[in-house]
Amino acid sequence: MNPLLTPFDTAPFSKIKNEHFKPAFLQAIEDARLEIDAIANSKKAPTFENTVAALDFAGQQLDRVSSVFFNLNSAETNPEIQKIAQEVSPLLSEFSNDITLNEELFKRVKTVYDQRNDLELTTEEQTLLDKKYKSFSRNGANLPLDKKKRLREIDAELSKLKLQFGENVLAETNKYEMHLTNEEDLDGLPEGEKEAAAQLAKSKDKDGWLITLDYPSYIPFMKYASNRKLRKELSIAFGSKGFHNDELDNQKNIINIANLRHERANLLGYKTHAHYVLEERMAETPEKVHQFLQELLEKAKPAAEREFAELENFAKQLDKIDRLEKWDGAYYSEKLKQKLFDLDDEKLKPYFKLENVIAGVFKVAAKLFGLQFEEVFDIDKYHPDVKTYRIYDKNKNLVSLFYADFHPRPGKRGGAWMTSYKAQYVQNGINVRPHISNVCNFTKPTASKPSLLTFNEVTTLFHEFGHGLHGMLANTVYPGLSGTSVYWDFVELPSQIMENWCYEKEALELFATHYQTGEVIPMELVQKIKDSATFQEGMATLRQISFGLLDMSWHGADPSGISNVKEQEVKAFEPTDLYPECPETCMSTSFSHIFQGGYSSGYYSYKWAEVLDADAFAYFKEKGIFNQEVATKFKDNVLSKGGTEKPMELYKRFRGSEPKIEALLKRAGLLAETTN
Ligand SMILES: [Zn+2]
Repeated sequence: MNPLLTPFDTAPFSKIKNEHFKPAFLQAIEDARLEIDAIANSKKAPTFENTVAALDFAGQQLDRVSSVFFNLNSAETNPEIQKIAQEVSPLLSEFSNDITLNEELFKRVKTVYDQRNDLELTTEEQTLLDKKYKSFSRNGANLPLDKKKRLREIDAELSKLKLQFGENVLAETNKYEMHLTNEEDLDGLPEGEKEAAAQLAKSKDKDGWLITLDYPSYIPFMKYASNRKLRKELSIAFGSKGFHNDELDNQKNIINIANLRHERANLLGYKTHAHYVLEERMAETPEKVHQFLQELLEKAKPAAEREFAELENFAKQLDKIDRLEKWDGAYYSEKLKQKLFDLDDEKLKPYFKLENVIAGVFKVAAKLFGLQFEEVFDIDKYHPDVKTYRIYDKNKNLVSLFYADFHPRPGKRGGAWMTSYKAQYVQNGINVRPHISNVCNFTKPTASKPSLLTFNEVTTLFHEFGHGLHGMLANTVYPGLSGTSVYWDFVELPSQIMENWCYEKEALELFATHYQTGEVIPMELVQKIKDSATFQEGMATLRQISFGLLDMSWHGADPSGISNVKEQEVKAFEPTDLYPECPETCMSTSFSHIFQGGYSSGYYSYKWAEVLDADAFAYFKEKGIFNQEVATKFKDNVLSKGGTEKPMELYKRFRGSEPKIEALLKRAGLLAETTN
């Protein structure tokens, strides 16, 4: 008896053994294949129900097995699970490729799609139909045979180039080390960082200290080391990865990637790669992204220039530096920050006992959305540390199950995330409720001390819980459109907006009390947190804009004329430059986000998401942060709607208008002081 192949409601963790996974995957893939074949080969005329809806509900068992398995691989893994992951991943991508390439299936979907205007579909049904159709057409299903063949060649070539790009960046990172034998050269570094550098040297049988291009080594050195010459050396080494005209050089790879992406987009009928990508984003078009970045640039630049002048002046006074270079920025910023704010995590932590913060986020959700949380002990779990809850609405209807897994342990990866074990959907008239999970890595309590969170961890908890609410409150028919299945420049709205409550007196009073004295956190402390959070926000914004502009310069226009990578980059960075240009470095040749990861034509979305959450929260601030009318509008138009409609439509229905950047500028302290 394989517990994963027996129908289950909550994941049967205690019954699952590692040896159950592989056979469960094989069987579930086989079953899903049969379901898909039955849809594709049906003798009945294609309809929305028997084709599009059926396709979305196919393979449910496979989804459940996959979610249990991959969630465990993140939160409670072991070498055996990791080995199984390597074995099943190719099977799963083969299965999903077979669906996209299934011509009979596409024919049926296309027949329904071509009739879409006569079918009187609901908005959600139209969205599902569009999404399914595009999952084929964006992979070339409409192309004639020769072009289809070319598309496959491009895809194969692109995945090789992206891999090569990444391998080069990694090799460049590993190749470099700065070996220091004179302790004075580490002047300024905190003891812990020095120790880590000594450890690293020791692990490689060297004396003294080693600094590398890995973030945990590189960042502290740039921030604290007072030796300017060494900072320059390290900064140039970091900034010139893939830019040495040797066998690890990435310049040709980038030009090839950009051109192949452009050709691929053209084949599919899009003007550029950015047009192709943005079709499935809230921003929709490259023009809109450009307009967005431009508007932000205009507003942020004066503040950034002010901050830069202040920093340069500070460096001049402190060390007689007359021209601030890229390798000076982090160092003097850290010094200036220390001078302006004397803020220390240890002062804040006693106000944020984990249990209080959890109770706090539940209280906030109760006040906003009428949710009630009940810890329960009858649900199977994968580790004793995991807590389980049933969440009800005002009328005691079950809304969701919630797993909370908050402490680190071996076998759990770092970071914090939201995930689900079961999607919400409606089938046969039954609204099936979801199983949502939050996983974090907060310090475990000891016998004498409870788990006390840093402020950053508090906002992380609220953030992940916001993603959680998006899953819990889902109320859609189709699982493929439910919860967080939205365009990815929209998915951070529910999470980021929740962080805002962590800065509000009215919310903090609900939970931020000293774990020993019961005293509520003093507002001066909260104000300090706010002020230090927006320190040098203008410069930080400009930096994000510059990356967005660089991304768009590679993907938003025909790249066939580009022959010089550095020239292209200098041109893209020109509007955002603060520091003097450094000819030895090039960012593009190690910009993994856009040339290896999934962020091509998407880098703007970091700032986009901030604009959304600031604008949305400004509405709460206007009417009161626990205002029922606004909260209900947010729930009804955003949290419950998943991807059933275009996000801009959902947002406008909540807010009454498109998002404006003013709220973000105000929150970030970037609005120029008015002189009247
Ligand atoms: Zn997030």
